[in-house]
Amino acid sequence: MPSLGLDLLFSLGLIIVGYASYRAKATDVSGSLAAMLIGIIIGFTAGWLWVIYILVFLVAGSLATHFRYNEKAKLGAAEEKGGRRGVSNVLANGSIALLLAILYWATKDWYITGMFVAAVASPAADTMATEFGLLSKTSPRMITDFTPTQPGRSGGITLLGSLVGLATSVIFGILAILMGITDLSLAAIGIIGGFVGVFLDSFLGATLQSLYQCYVCQRYTEKKLHCNKPTKRIHGYSLIDNNIVNLLAGVGAVSSVILLEIFLF
Ligand SMILES: [Zn+2]
Repeated sequence: MPSLGLDLLFSLGLIIVGYASYRAKATDVSGSLAAMLIGIIIGFTAGWLWVIYILVFLVAGSLATHFRYNEKAKLGAAEEKGGRRGVSNVLANGSIALLLAILYWATKDWYITGMFVAAVASPAADTMATEFGLLSKTSPRMITDFTPTQPGRSGGITLLGSLVGLATSVIFGILAILMGITDLSLAAIGIIGGFVGVFLDSFLGATLQSLYQCYVCQRYTEKKLHCNKPTKRIHGYSLIDNNIVNLLAGVGAVSSVILLEIFLF
C-alpha cells in the first residue's frame, strides 16, 4: 500500500498541477484551490489511481479544446467555453467523484468503482462530443425535435459529436480496467452510465437550461452579458445554468449505474 511519503509526493504534484492550471488561465484562484483540495481528498481516500484517471480526462479535454481552436472560435462557439473555471464549475464537475471516493474509502464497496467510472466517463464523453461536434461539417440539431440550431448551443447534437461521445465513454471504461480501478462487468455498466450522462446533458441543455439571446448580435448565448449588453432570457430556468446541468447529468449517470447494479447483481 502507498506510504505517507508517496501520499505527500502526489499531493505536491497536485498542487503543482493546480498552480499550472492557474497560470495557464484554465482556472481562477478559487477554482484552482478547490480542484487541488478535491484531488488531494480523493487521493487520500480512494487512492491516487482515481486521481490519475480524472487527470487523464482533464488533460484530454484540454487538448480537445485547443484542437483546431481557431476554426471553433470562428463559429463564435468557443468563446462561450472560454474564461477561467471558478469554484462553482469545479464543484459541479468534481463533487460527485469526491463523494464516491469518500464512500469507497468508508465502505470499501467494490460496486462504487463502477459508479466512479460513469462519474468520469460522462463528463469526458460530453466534453469530447462538444469539442469534436463543433468541427462537424453538418449543422447540429436539437436533441428534442431535431430542428437545426447554431453550433455550440446546449442541446444541439451532431452525428460526429455523438459518435465521439460514445467512443470516449467506451475508452474510459477500458482505461479503468487497464488501471485496475474496476473490473470488466462494472466497467461495462459504467460505460452505459457514461452514455446516459451524455444524453442527459444534451437533453437538459435543450429543455431546462437557461438560454439567452443577445440584443446586439442576435446570437443565442448562455451568458447574461453579450456584446457588452445585458441579454434576454428566451428559454429555460434562470437558476439552471450549465454547471447545474453538468451536475444533474452526473447524478443521472451514477444513478443509472446504481439501478443496473441492483438489477444485474
Ligand atoms: Zn452579442
